[in-house]
Amino acid sequence: MKLILASNNANKLKEFRSLTADLDIELLSQKEAGCDFEVEENGTTFEENAYLKASAVTAATGFAAVADDSGLCVDALNGEPGIYSARYGLGHDASDQDRYRYLLQKMEGVENRSARFVCCICCTFPDGSVIRSRGECEGEILLSPKGRNGFGYDPVFHPLGLEKSMAELSPEEKNAISHRGKALRAFIEELKKL
Ligand code: IMP
Repeated sequence: MKLILASNNANKLKEFRSLTADLDIELLSQKEAGCDFEVEENGTTFEENAYLKASAVTAATGFAAVADDSGLCVDALNGEPGIYSARYGLGHDASDQDRYRYLLQKMEGVENRSARFVCCICCTFPDGSVIRSRGECEGEILLSPKGRNGFGYDPVFHPLGLEKSMAELSPEEKNAISHRGKALRAFIEELKKL
């Protein structure tokens, strides 16, 4: 089966490829499939945005396509940054460090620091059928950054039950507990049923 990843993110392609390695799937990036466009993520939920990305690629190519959308939801900020995690507060040009510093500023003096990472995966097929999966990782926003691994908000996120920040975990340790790891494993299980 040919499956197109509705993304040109090399890290995501690597992750998806390793998890689908033992399945009979030829996984292509959007670019490899000749889709040279960026889909506007104007949905109001992670699920909607993942669907928008996957369905645009299926419509353009006639092949099954899979997309994910993820972000950090902070309870004391009413779920912010949520679907706006990649451009939180400062637009697209800011660095990951600028963005987590902005978050720490917003959380100054805030006692309730509970938060979760969320990842939604959507796979669309040419016959109109859809597979969806979701993974969450509960934790707390730290008072200051810790660790150098990972990306995005990892240095300021303390996963529930661990003694380390998300950015202090190895890629394997992060994958075992992360929102993306959970969503991907659930998606693969659904795919295997087909
Ligand atoms: P996207 O789904 O790849 O567009 O990611 C959206 C944004 O959410 C990223 O740019 C990060 O800011 C944040 N994010 C998503 N997943 C993670 C993660 O595993 N660690 C840290 N930040 C993340």
